[in-house]
Amino acid sequence: MEAFLKNVLSDAKRQSSVESQLLDSRAEILDAMYETVESGTAAIATVKDMMCNVRTEVKQLQPLASTVDLIRQELSELGKEVEKLEGKMKFPYVCLSCGKPLLPEFKICPYCGEDAQLLRSPAPVISLGEHK
Ligand SMILES: [Zn+2]
Repeated sequence: MEAFLKNVLSDAKRQSSVESQLLDSRAEILDAMYETVESGTAAIATVKDMMCNVRTEVKQLQPLASTVDLIRQELSELGKEVEKLEGKMKFPYVCLSCGKPLLPEFKICPYCGEDAQLLRSPAPVISLGEHK
């Protein structure tokens, strides 16, 4: 009788040890699942952070877009200024008397009436040009 009980007990012990092993492996699986969930959560958090960053960047970009429009306007105005300057550069000489741009064929300054032949001087803007 005692032997039978011992057998049952040892059987129960073995069973419980098997069960505890099963539980251990289950716990491992649970741990692994938990880690997966945790890393998944971390990944989701990272994605959330990234989306949040992108959102704030988009919010920052929206005023930038209007700034770019302003810069474009300023650039087109600058382009007009450059065109004006280029128009002025077609006059390679300035009158030394009044400082107005003069064409090289002008003999008399149309602005101040001075003798342009004597007073003309290479304008600094085209000093790279063909003047001697
Ligand atoms: Zn002049």
